Amino acid sequence: MQSAFVELFPDKVGYSLSVKYSGKFRGYNANIRMRGSDIVVNMSRNWRGVSPEIQKGLIQELLIRLFKVRMHTINMDLYHHFIKGLPKVAPKTQSHPVLERSFERVNAAFFAGMVDRPNLRLGSGVLRLGTYEYATDTVTITEMLLAHEELMDYVMYHELLHKKHQYSAKGGRHAHHSRQFREDEAKFPRADELEKELQRLARTQKSVWKFW
Ligand SMILES: [Zn+2]
Repeated sequence: MQSAFVELFPDKVGYSLSVKYSGKFRGYNANIRMRGSDIVVNMSRNWRGVSPEIQKGLIQELLIRLFKVRMHTINMDLYHHFIKGLPKVAPKTQSHPVLERSFERVNAAFFAGMVDRPNLRLGSGVLRLGTYEYATDTVTITEMLLAHEELMDYVMYHELLHKKHQYSAKGGRHAHHSRQFREDEAKFPRADELEKELQRLARTQKSVWKFW
């Protein structure tokens, strides 16, 4: 996998790159560390069976973040294409009755019922009120929203927009909240007020109002 590095940075010499597969990651997560001239990429065991060309794209994504440069390769395209296809094949194993009703309401009201149900998971963390993970097709919503149906639906809507819009990656910068995304988001009734309510709620819980 040294070639992933050399192809990006032919002029940087003396670096060594190694890859380790680890069981500590969910889905297809990975990280990168550099100590001196040794670069280690740790990736989820799930990557083992994936084409080396796609793995190379992942490594290059991590490398350009590490070196804070903007570059683009065919392997990185392959990687993004792979990630975007994962929701379709991800096994559906997790659900929660309250989140399921929220999903049904939001799907019917805003997506004409066209969104396939993702995995639905209750989160205990307060740092993030909601997330959408492409690799496992999972919407996680913090349990603190269970008692606030309208807010829960609004966060559910936001996360389902991620599933719908996916993301665009250009030169290593990921636009998760594109202009189109924000325009869609604003279609939720009382979106502005709900944003403020979420901020208030987050403050009382000493958490940071942030969703991904
Ligand atoms: Zn988001």
